[in-house]
Amino acid sequence: MNCPQCKGYRLAPRELEPGLIAAGCSKCEGVLISLLNYRYWADYKRFSGPDGDEEIIAEDNEKAQLCPKCHRIMAKYRIGIEASNKIDLCANCDEAWLDSGEWSLLKRLDLQDKLPKIFTDAWQANIRKLRQTQQQKARYQNILGDDFERVEEFKSWLEAHVEADKIKQYLLY
Ligand SMILES: [Zn+2]
Ligand SMILES: [Zn+2]
Repeated sequence: MNCPQCKGYRLAPRELEPGLIAAGCSKCEGVLISLLNYRYWADYKRFSGPDGDEEIIAEDNEKAQLCPKCHRIMAKYRIGIEASNKIDLCANCDEAWLDSGEWSLLKRLDLQDKLPKIFTDAWQANIRKLRQTQQQKARYQNILGDDFERVEEFKSWLEAHVEADKIKQYLLY
């Protein structure tokens, strides 16, 4: 199999974690993980935890990528709101492509056992929702500046109040 990123480079077996063999590229350090192997490995919970505290540089290819096995276009799935990285998946072959550093990133975010979950509609919908909330918050932060913190404090106080509805009515009166 050739690397989907680097012309002329072949993927070779690489032990990503003890017991988890992927196909890796020596040039871009990307890895192709068979989800079948992954599920088997994950069932035995042989996770090694994050690789220390050093900064993780996780690359992320932006372009549509072809599956190195069947040459169909792979779909991109966001990992979460903590990082903008997307993982490529070929649903046809059940193989996932991780760019250099993305496996370490998954471990850092404690998602190393959630790989198949990331590819579900529910996971992706939740990310969209969280991102919307984040964007709304940023918008109001921008408008309100230093007062935003007070508004946030008031908002949590209001939401916890038994007479929240009455207070809201009064505010709009
Ligand atoms: Zn490569
Ligand atoms: Zn494929």
